[in-house]
Amino acid sequence: MRYLMKFGGTSVADAKCIGRVVDILEHHRKAGDELAVVVSAQRGVTDQLIEIAGALPTAKDSSAIAPLIQALKKRHITTLEGAAPAHVAEVGAVIEERLVNLQNILFAVYNLRELTPRSKDYIISFGERLLAPILAAAIREREIPSTVFDGCEAGILTTSTHGESTALPESDERIQARVGSRLKKEIPVIMGFMGCTKEGIVTTLGRSGSDYSASIIGAGIDADEIWIWTDVDGIMTSDPRVINDARVLKNVSFIEVMELSYFGAKVMHPRSIDPEMRKNILVRVKNTFNPIHSGTMIVKDGHRDRRVVKALTYIEKVGAININGAQMIGRPGVAKAIFSALADNAVNVMMISQGSSEANISLIIDESHLSTAVNALAFLVEQGIVREVTHTHDVCAVAVVGDGMAGAAGTGGRIFTALGREGVNVMMISQGSSEANISFVVRQEDGQRAVRVLHDEFRLSEECDD
Ligand code: ADP
Ligand code: ASP
Ligand code: MG
Repeated sequence: MRYLMKFGGTSVADAKCIGRVVDILEHHRKAGDELAVVVSAQRGVTDQLIEIAGALPTAKDSSAIAPLIQALKKRHITTLEGAAPAHVAEVGAVIEERLVNLQNILFAVYNLRELTPRSKDYIISFGERLLAPILAAAIREREIPSTVFDGCEAGILTTSTHGESTALPESDERIQARVGSRLKKEIPVIMGFMGCTKEGIVTTLGRSGSDYSASIIGAGIDADEIWIWTDVDGIMTSDPRVINDARVLKNVSFIEVMELSYFGAKVMHPRSIDPEMRKNILVRVKNTFNPIHSGTMIVKDGHRDRRVVKALTYIEKVGAININGAQMIGRPGVAKAIFSALADNAVNVMMISQGSSEANISLIIDESHLSTAVNALAFLVEQGIVREVTHTHDVCAVAVVGDGMAGAAGTGGRIFTALGREGVNVMMISQGSSEANISFVVRQEDGQRAVRVLHDEFRLSEECDD
C-alpha cells in the first residue's frame, strides 16, 4: 500500500511524541508499505510566530525577538537531542542557521515597521522549517533513508493569496516527479502548511493548513490512503473539549467533514477534502497516542445511519451584520452591491440569510472583519439603498451536520424546539445548499449550551452503526 501520513503539532510536540511517530512509520515500512510524511510545526510555535510578526511593526522596541529565538532554539534542540541523538551536530547546525535567518527577518520587520502578507507567510512557515529536519533525522536514526522537502520543493504550487492560498492543478505532476519517485527508496518528510507561487514566493495554506498539504501531496503521489494522525481517536460527534461524552464516528462523508471543518471543528482543514474528492482517496483520522484504535474513515459517500444528525460544531467570535429597509423590496442588484463591496474589501461571508419579505439580509462574518465590513457597507445607507446597517459582536455560529438530513422532514423543527425548551435564543438560521447542514447563530454565551442541548437531543453519545 502507498500511504501519505500527516502528523499534527500535538503528535510531534516533544522527543517522546516523535519516537511514537517513528514507531508507526517503521512498523508500516517493515510491512512493505510505501510512505510519504507531511508534518506540522510543534504545537504552539505557529501561534508564537504569528503573534510576534503582528506585534513588531508597532512595537516600542525589538526586545521580544531575542527571547523568542532563544526559546525556539531550546525547544527544538532539546527535541532533536531526544529524538535523534546521532544527528545532533548535523541537524543542530541546520536549525541554528534557520533561526539566524528568522531573526534577521524579524529585525527587518521591526526596522521597516511593515509586515507585508508576503513576509508574514514566510515568517509563519518557520515552525515547520524547524521541526521537519528533526523528524527526518529521527527516521534516519532507525536506518531508514529520509530527505526533507519544504512545500515548494515538494512541488506544491499555489495561488498568490497569501495566508489562505489554494493549490494549483499543475502541482500534481510536480509532486509525482519530486516525491512519488522516491518512495521505493526512502520516507520523504514534507513541511506542511506551505507552498509557493510560480515565481517561487512562499505562501501558506491557512491555519491548520498541514491537513490540506496532506491531501495535496496524497493526491500528487496517488496514495491509496491518507492518514491524518492527531491527538484524539478520530472525528467525533462534537469537540471533546466541550462535550465530554462526545463519541468517535466510524464513518464520515466528504461533505460532512467539509461542513464540520468549515464551521470550526479543528480536527481538519476545510479545504483538505477537495483533492481527495477529485481522486476519491480514502482518508482516515487516527490517534498517534492510541494507534490501535481504528479511527474515523472519511469516504466519498457516507454511510447513512438511522440517525439523521451526525455531529455538531460551532465557531466562536463571529460577527453579525443586519441590513434592513423596505427600499430593498423588489429592487434588483442590492445583494450584488452588498457582496461586491464585501469582496472588494476581502471580507469572507460565512453565512447568509434573507427574509422572504426581502426587507432584511443578515450576514455572518469573522469578528475581526466586522469594522471593515461595516465601513464597506456604509454607502448603502448614504445612497438610500437601505434604511440601516447594524452589527453585533460576540455571537457564535452553530452547525448541525449529517448527510441524512437531506430530505428528512422535521429535523429543523426538532432542533429549534429543543433550543426553545432550554431558553436558547436563536438570532439567525441558515440551511446550506447541500442540506447536510443546518446552521444558526446564538449569543456567544449560549454557544456551548446550544451544542450540549442538541448533543443530548439527538443522543449523539449513544453507540450507533455509523
Ligand atoms: P493537530 O495538531 O493534530 O492538527 P488539532 O489541534 O488541529 O490537531 O485538531 C485536533 C483537535 O481538534 C482535537 O484535540 C479536538 O480537541 C479538536 N476537535 C474539535 N472538534 C472536533 C471533532 N468534531 N472531532 C474531533 N476533534 C475535534
Ligand atoms: N502549523 C500550522 C498551524 O498551526 C499548520 C498546521 O498545524 O496544520 O496552523
Ligand atoms: Mg490541525
